[in-house]
Amino acid sequence: MSRIWLRNPKAVHLGRNTDATADGGIVIDTETGTIVELVPAGREPVGGRPVDDGASSSGPAGAFDEIIDVSDHVITPGLINTHHHFYQTLTRAWAPVADFPLFGWLTNLYPVWARLTPQALELATTVALAELLESGCTTAADHHYLFPTGMDDAIDIEVEAVRRLGMRAMLTRGSMSLGEEDGGLPPQRTVQDPEVILADSRRLVETYHERGAGAQVQIGLAPCSPFSVTTELMRESAALAADLDVRLHTHLAETLDEEDFCRERFGLRTVDYLDSVGWLGDRTWLAHGIHFDDEEIARLGAAGVSVAHCPTSNMRLASGIARAVELEDAGVHVGLGVDGSASNDASNLIREVRQALYLQRLRYGAEAVTCERVLDWATAGSAAALGRDDIGTIAVGRQADLALFRLDGLAFSGSHDPIPALVLCGAEKADRVMVGGQWRVIDGHAIGADGQALDKEALIAAHREEARRLVSG
Ligand SMILES: [Zn+2]
Repeated sequence: MSRIWLRNPKAVHLGRNTDATADGGIVIDTETGTIVELVPAGREPVGGRPVDDGASSSGPAGAFDEIIDVSDHVITPGLINTHHHFYQTLTRAWAPVADFPLFGWLTNLYPVWARLTPQALELATTVALAELLESGCTTAADHHYLFPTGMDDAIDIEVEAVRRLGMRAMLTRGSMSLGEEDGGLPPQRTVQDPEVILADSRRLVETYHERGAGAQVQIGLAPCSPFSVTTELMRESAALAADLDVRLHTHLAETLDEEDFCRERFGLRTVDYLDSVGWLGDRTWLAHGIHFDDEEIARLGAAGVSVAHCPTSNMRLASGIARAVELEDAGVHVGLGVDGSASNDASNLIREVRQALYLQRLRYGAEAVTCERVLDWATAGSAAALGRDDIGTIAVGRQADLALFRLDGLAFSGSHDPIPALVLCGAEKADRVMVGGQWRVIDGHAIGADGQALDKEALIAAHREEARRLVSG
C-alpha cells in the first residue's frame, strides 16, 4: 500500500454535499488513485502508524511514503473545465478580431482556422492543457469541430496530448455540416458530410471512451451550433449518443444573433429548437446558455440539462450575462468553462472562478454569489455537467484529484481568510496539482506522465511559430 498524507492544510474546500472536515489533512492511496481518509483537526490518520510530530517534510515515515506539510496551502478539488477549443490558443489576441462580437469574430477567424495542421493542433492542445493544469485544473473538456483536409485524426492527437500530461479529459467529436452555400455561417471547405461525422464519432467512442470511476479519457458528441450544423445532424447525433451512452454538447443561446438565426431558419426559439431535435435531456450540456427566458430556464432544469458558464468569453464578445443562479436554482447543473483562447484568451480556470463571481454578482448581488458557490461551480458543478460523480469533491472514495494553492505572495499579503483570499485576491497558479494520486504539477510547473518536467520554453517557441504561420497563410 502506498500512501501520501497531505498534513495540516491552511484550509480545504471539500466541495458540495459533505459535512466532513479535513483540517488535519487528506490521505491518498497512490495505487488506487483515491482519497482514503479525511483527518480531523489535531488528529493523525487512523490508517497509518503514529507519526512523530517532527515528521513534517517529505519522506518516508510511519506507514506513509510521503508526508507533505501543507500548512501554507489551500486545497480544493481539482478544478474541472467544461468548455474549450484548444486549437484556438494559436489565435489569441489577434488584432483583426480583437474588438468584434461573435458572428463577425467567427467569420473572420474561420478561414484562418481552416489552415490548421496536425502539428499545430498537437502544440495548441499541449499549451492549453499545460496552462489549465498549472491553474489547478485536473479535468478538461474540449470542443473540437474543425476537420479541414488532413485533420481526420484531430481527436486522436488530443488523446495523445492528454495522456502525455496525465490529465483527465472529456474530448468531444465536434462537427460542422451547414456551410455558407446552404445558409450556415462557416465556409464550405470547413464542413463535413454527416455520414463521415457520425462514422468517425462512433470510431472515437469505441476506441477511446472509458467508463466508470477514474476514467481518464472520455468522448462526447458535439455538433458546433445551430448556425453551423443541419437539423438532421443534430437529431442523428442525439440518437447516436443515446445508442453509445455518451454525452452531448453544443453551443446554445450565446448571442441574440443566434436567437434571430433560429427564429428565421427554424421558426423556433433556441430551447424549442433543442427540444425539436431530441436534445432536451440530462445527457446534454450547453456552452454559454445566456439568452433564456423564465419558462425556458424551468424546462432546462426539469430536463436535467447542464450549462458551461464562460464568463470571460461572454464579457469579451459582449454576448450577455448568463442567468447562472436562476439556472442552478431551477435544477440545471452549472459548471465553469474558460472557452476557446480566441475569446478568453487565457486557459486559466482559477482566474475564471473570480470572473464568474464578479460577473454573477452584477446580476444577483453579493450575497447570492459566494466564493464557495463559484468554487463549487468549477468543481462539483462542472463534474455533474460532464456526467461524473467520482471527481469534483474531496471525499473518501473519490478520485485523488486535488489543487493546492499557496497564499504567500504579495497579492495575498494582509489577507485573513484563506478561501475568500483564494478567490478575491486573484490566485493565478496552483503550486501543486494531483491527478488520480499522481503529482502533475510541482512548484508551479507541469510534470508529464513520464515524470519529466514539461519543456515549456521549447513548447512556446514551436507553438509561436505555428501561430505565426496560421495567420500569415
Ligand atoms: Zn465555445
